[in-house]
Amino acid sequence: MEYKVRTEPLELQVMRILIARADLAESDRQYYRNLEKGYEGELFFDSITRQLQSNCLILNDLLLEANHSTFQIDSLIIFPNSLQVFDIKNNEGDHYFEEEKLFIKPNLEISNPVDQIKRTENRFRRWVKDHGFSFPIVVNIVFVNPRFTLYQAPMNMPFIFHSQLDRYFEQLDSHTGKLTSKHKLLADQLINSQVSKEPFIKLPTYDYGNLRKGIICEKCNKIAVAVDRGKHCLCLDCGHKELVETAVLRSVEEIKLLFPDRKITTNLVHEWCKVVPSKKRINRILEKNLKKSGKNKWVYFE
Ligand SMILES: [Zn+2]
Repeated sequence: MEYKVRTEPLELQVMRILIARADLAESDRQYYRNLEKGYEGELFFDSITRQLQSNCLILNDLLLEANHSTFQIDSLIIFPNSLQVFDIKNNEGDHYFEEEKLFIKPNLEISNPVDQIKRTENRFRRWVKDHGFSFPIVVNIVFVNPRFTLYQAPMNMPFIFHSQLDRYFEQLDSHTGKLTSKHKLLADQLINSQVSKEPFIKLPTYDYGNLRKGIICEKCNKIAVAVDRGKHCLCLDCGHKELVETAVLRSVEEIKLLFPDRKITTNLVHEWCKVVPSKKRINRILEKNLKKSGKNKWVYFE
């Protein structure tokens, strides 16, 4: 049972907007692609764990602190007999292991997920102990991508490859144990102990004036949406149609995410969306969907 669902990371949401509205450096574009890919891998993993039938609690995306260090767990599954920690990797291509280091062929060294999961394991063990629980803990690194190959992987590494996923979960799912109130208490304490993420640490700087204005297509993420007098707007790049109203409200959410201190006014949204000619139309959409505050010249929406 999915006890804590995964939500789309804020960094990813912001980067997706910036990719469309700003001219980012190649390193930032690469960072964005990695975020998309990582999240895609996590969603794939969730689609598998959601099929588990046995008694278990699935907690996705935990950010915790133990001994003054924060650590993140992509997925934790509480089974009656064990706590299974999963670090999810969506790498693809040919990789190899040599002298406890991980390389992409032919010879690019990348960070070794084993070192990372060992740190996570130590901190999580400490957390569990500090909170008065005692359960066996098993850590796993899951390579979810079917296009990933790892040569020379020692057999004692905590790896699960795409081809092994079904079997691994079938085996975990075959237990007949029952969860107790202790398991539930652990799950609740984990959720209540979340530490907040340092916001937008790796994001490129951006400012309102330099960002491209217009409406981003919800399907292809390009600023290529055109609006006429009809109810729908149209993406000139991929042909996707969307209600003008929902497109404008999506754009309002972008402003809120990128500029949380700005007040949402008709003028601001009109300028941000750019392609909706009529200010009155923008105003009608805001009045219908948001709460109006302030008076006369100072009206804004929440
Ligand atoms: Zn499109």
